[in-house]
Formats: sequence, structure tokens, C-alpha cells
Amino acid sequence: MYNKDVVSMKKMNIKKDDNILVSNNLIDFFNPKEVYVPLIFKASLNVKNKKVRKGDLLFFNDKQKIFSPISGELKNIEILGKQKYLVIINNFKEEQRKKINKKSSLKKEDILDLINKYYPTFNLVKNSNVLYFNALSDDIYNASNYFIFKEYQDELLEVLDFLREVFLYDEVKILLKENEPDSIKIFANILGRYPFISLELMPNFYPIANKVILERYFNSSLDMIDTYTLLNLVFAIIHREPLLDCYVTVSGIDVKPVVVKVKKGTRVIDVLQKLNIDKKEGRLNNVLNKVESLENLVVDENITSLLFFPLKPKSKACISCGKCLRVCPMGCEAIFKKNMDKCISCGLCEYVCPSYLDLRR
Ligand code: SF4
Ligand code: SF4
Repeated sequence: MYNKDVVSMKKMNIKKDDNILVSNNLIDFFNPKEVYVPLIFKASLNVKNKKVRKGDLLFFNDKQKIFSPISGELKNIEILGKQKYLVIINNFKEEQRKKINKKSSLKKEDILDLINKYYPTFNLVKNSNVLYFNALSDDIYNASNYFIFKEYQDELLEVLDFLREVFLYDEVKILLKENEPDSIKIFANILGRYPFISLELMPNFYPIANKVILERYFNSSLDMIDTYTLLNLVFAIIHREPLLDCYVTVSGIDVKPVVVKVKKGTRVIDVLQKLNIDKKEGRLNNVLNKVESLENLVVDENITSLLFFPLKPKSKACISCGKCLRVCPMGCEAIFKKNMDKCISCGLCEYVCPSYLDLRR
């Protein structure tokens, strides 16, 4: 069943610094003074006056809906980097629309309506009989997924089982790394209630969480949802509200490791200020992704970790060692700029390059 080429593929274990702990501590940061809500393409503004409540629909287009993460007052439009944001000043009242009864039993149409109401970006095209939940992370310091699994374990499985029934899958498989006993334990403890859901343990190599690599590993295209997609569905189907919080792992040298549960739209510099971290540059989502300025970043589901390790030394001339060619899982030749259309931006070529060259560019 597995693709032998990929099983024997150049597997890469990203070396973990043993002095850096993975966080076992979760804190909340729910009271930023203001949040930055991204303006989306060709969206209509849905706000009648300047006051908004938490969970109000702010903008929508035919593919996306953007909700207010806080209650407060609209301030102005600001540009950070290349993105325009609507700034909302927090009134710290957490005013929210009245919630509706959640106990009614749901039919397929009800589920699809709820998904469309709160998470219209969801798009599952059924191509096989197995639905995969990609619960993997390629970040060796990431503890965000663990805290999401711990907090929402029952609801995640309930929604996976809903999806199995609604989309007529024979079974659901949860993909986890074999070296993540804590996350495995969370699901293993309750899987007895779900006869059609099982765990599939994956080898620990980088970048196994990437869908392209997984499809090569399984030697077929996969019907797959990731952790944030599933969490959005939990909020849409069970809580009947949009997901407004994100989990961000913070770790690195001279930084106390922690996972912060934070309002979407909070500026990264405000999160760091809350944690008394005075750093201007770091790495984003895994140690292979450097970010030269954190100034313009705003928390959303694409920001899962902020890691603080020294950036690479200055680049030197290529010494033609060929390491970048040998390590690439996609067969790209970054140094010759060949086959770069296949690049999945994993960063391995830069990770092994002794001349510290920025090859992904
Ligand atoms: S060229 Fe792209 S896919 Fe290949 S190692 Fe570099 S970043 Fe990864
Ligand atoms: S790994 Fe770096 S030094 Fe070696 S061939 Fe590639 S670009 Fe050149």
C-alpha cells in the first residue's frame, strides 16, 4: 500500500535542541486592546453602525466570511505590510449574540447549512472511502495541537463521525506521529466509542505533515482535513458560532515555552509584550522558516508557532557540495532554479546548505 520510494525517501529528522522544552503550559490572552481584522477580496461590509459584538459577521464574499473576534467599536483601516485591516477597539465586554439550543438532532442539510453559515471555506470533495484527519505537525517544538486535542477531544471525534455519516465514508483515520505519546493517549482513551474511527501512526520525519508528502507516502490522493479545519467545524456544527481563537506555541532560546490561546486578529507584537519577550525576529511555524520582522504579523490560523533561535549567519558563495539537491523531497534543483514549480517550501535545502543560502526564493 505504501509507496516504497517515499518510505525509503531521504528522510530528515530536524535536530531538536535538548535544552529547549516543549511547553506543557497553556495561557489565555483574550484581552488585547484592539484587533486587526483582514479585509478580504471583493467583500461587502456587513456593519450598520460602528459598534460590533463578538461573533458578528463583518465581511463576506462568495467564499469567505469574517467575524468579529471581540466586541467593541470600529476604529479605522490600517495597512500592515501589504495587507489592509479593519481595526476594532476592544470594549472588554465580550458581548455576544444569544446562543441557540444545541441539542436538536441534525440532518445532513442542517449540518451543511451550519458549515456554510460559519465556515464556508470548507470544501470536501469525496474521492475515496476513507477520510483522514491530519493531526500531524512538522514543528518539533509545537504543542498547540496537543492543547487543542486535550480541550476538544470529544467534539473533534463527534464531528469526524458526523462527517463520516454525512459524506458516506467507510471509516476515518487519525494520523499522528508515532513519537507523540501524549496526543496518542488522548484519542486512544475515547476511540472505543467510535467503531469507525482509528489511529494510524506515522513515522517521524520531516515534512511528513505536508499533504503532498503524505499522498506520496500513501501512494494515492487523500480526502483529508487538518486540525484547524476540524476545529472550525466543531464550532460551526456543535457550538454554532465561528471559531475566534487560535493556539500559538512560543518557544526558543531564553524564552519560557508556552502555548497561548489568543484572539484572532491580535498583533504578534502584543502577544510578545504580554509574555515580556523583546524580540524583533524569529521563526514562524517551524525552525526552518525565518521571519525577519514580526512587526506586521497578525495572529490567524496560519500562525501556529513563534520560535526564537538565532537567525543564520550571512550567506556565502555556493561551494557546489550538492547537499541541497540530495535532500529535496520533491526533486527540485534549487541551486539551478530547476523544477521549482514542485517546491513545497519545506526549507530543507536551506537547512542543509553550508553556505546559508536562501534557496527557496
Ligand atoms: S526546493 Fe523546495 S521542496 Fe525542495 S528542499 Fe528546497 S524548499 Fe523543500
Ligand atoms: S547546499 Fe548550498 S553550497 Fe551546497 S550546492 Fe546547494 S546551494 Fe551550493
